[in-house]
Amino acid sequence: MGVKVVQRHTPTFLEKIYLPQIYCGLKITSAHFFRNLFLHTAHLFGRLKDRRAAVTYQYPEELRPLMSRHRSRHRLTLREDDTPRCVGCMLCETVCPAKCITIVPGEHPDPHVEKYPIRFDIDLGVCVYCGYCVEVCPEDAIRMDTGILDLAAYSREAMQLDIHELMNPELRKPLGDCDLDFPHECEIHDGEMKGDWESVGVTPHEH
Ligand code: SF4
Ligand code: SF4
Repeated sequence: MGVKVVQRHTPTFLEKIYLPQIYCGLKITSAHFFRNLFLHTAHLFGRLKDRRAAVTYQYPEELRPLMSRHRSRHRLTLREDDTPRCVGCMLCETVCPAKCITIVPGEHPDPHVEKYPIRFDIDLGVCVYCGYCVEVCPEDAIRMDTGILDLAAYSREAMQLDIHELMNPELRKPLGDCDLDFPHECEIHDGEMKGDWESVGVTPHEH
């Protein structure tokens, strides 16, 4: 197979001084600026409504509408007794390509529910927002429909969502106190187990 030799382009004098390119850039930017200024002014007076001008969203005060299929920050869906719907099957942790889900399952006292998450963490700093965890869940227990996009944090630790933040997407680190009643490993209390099933109205199953 022959080798095709490609000659490197030698810039001309005009290309080296950049002035024509700067002029072209300014011409395009100015044309857009004056066109939009003219159209927005005309729209203010009810004229030329059929001609669309550029629209700028004043983020973060003004948020762009999201499509219903948009994948935003995760949340865990809840049962009527405010415990997670998750049955600790580990499918989402297994399928996650970024390996950023950590679940510690525990035995549920209700014989119809095999397990529940004692601990459920997602590291958003590693997540690639593929949505596989949502797709694979057999219980519709995890969703990415919070519409929360401002995920920036000052530390890697703050990017790691625990069960409190996943059950209540409004929560942000640093978290104050824990108001979850069912037994869970509570990072707020140094990883201790907190809560009990009686407080959420579930009687432990006698074997
Ligand atoms: S969206 Fe994808 S990468 Fe992120 S937690 Fe779910 S499965 Fe993992
Ligand atoms: S796939 Fe659903 S039910 Fe299974 S561990 Fe993940 S969130 Fe829980």
